[in-house]
Amino acid sequence: MSAALAELEFPAPVAPDPGTPVTVAPGILWLRLALPFPLDHVNIYLIEDGAGWAILDSGINDARSRAWWESVLSGPLAGRRPTRLIVTHFHPDHVGLAGWLAERCDIELIMPRTEYLTTQLHRRWAEAPEIEAHRAFYAASGLDAAASAAMLERDIGYRWLTTDLPPSFRRIAAGDVLTLGGRRFEVLTGGGHAPELAMLLCRDERIFLAADQVLAKISPNVSVWPQEPDGDPLGEFLASLASLRATVPDDALVLPAHNLPFRNLQARLDELIAHHGQRCEAVAAACAQPLLPAEIVPKLFRRSLDAHQTSFAFGETLAHVNYMLRRGRMTAAPGADGRMRVRPA
Ligand SMILES: [Zn+2]
Repeated sequence: MSAALAELEFPAPVAPDPGTPVTVAPGILWLRLALPFPLDHVNIYLIEDGAGWAILDSGINDARSRAWWESVLSGPLAGRRPTRLIVTHFHPDHVGLAGWLAERCDIELIMPRTEYLTTQLHRRWAEAPEIEAHRAFYAASGLDAAASAAMLERDIGYRWLTTDLPPSFRRIAAGDVLTLGGRRFEVLTGGGHAPELAMLLCRDERIFLAADQVLAKISPNVSVWPQEPDGDPLGEFLASLASLRATVPDDALVLPAHNLPFRNLQARLDELIAHHGQRCEAVAAACAQPLLPAEIVPKLFRRSLDAHQTSFAFGETLAHVNYMLRRGRMTAAPGADGRMRVRPA
């Protein structure tokens, strides 16, 4: 645990059992749903909205999550129906049950436009011809067959972790204000972890619903995706963290999508920014000779990684490489086999 983590304050140190909503702030319920992979869980929030509740994020599309929702809808919320569904970003633990829940509750889906479109894009990868181009991209980057297969499995498997989105949605964008139950929630968006991830800030009550952009214990995954191999998600992510530092009051209660609610946001933002600075230095230092992006991964991670961990580590490493390429801190040149290798500038 790092020094800054010790400075964080955890006002609700015990997480609720999956499927059992508890009050975490005035007029806000915290619902935790378990996930069938090591991330373990996702935090959903229900925000008082007049006679009912606005739902923030939906959980992954599996039988357990649907069953938890059924019990929540028929139990703790009975008599106060959901009013609308707000989804922060396209990752399946957030958008997975959006289509199902919007139809089940007959409510509108509210989402940033890029996140709605990105969900649609990833859902079609299960049968899309461009998946072959992804395979070529992974091979050109130096990923071995097992890690490539894990990446492709992730790209294709997205479809089954999500449900068909409603054919239309209501767009939210940075600068909008959502009025929920008489309270003003400013919409902030940030890139890097997802292209246009939505966050909600109730400035009057110092409540910040951060989704995955800032988490207490995990450094949010920031990865390059195959449809945009030259993308700069790390640049976007760091710009978003800097913007949050200038925008969100430090005494705000941060309600994140994973781990526990916390206070002292600024310390955590500083820690995440410093973490990525150190990772950039480590990536550059690993390239004593020109390397394929995937060849950098084992030099950064001492422990052996399975194919899935390698695929995540690869996406993150490429994000650091692209960040430094754009800023002239690394250069790329083709090797004898035509594949691009990188080294410090
Ligand atoms: Zn996410």
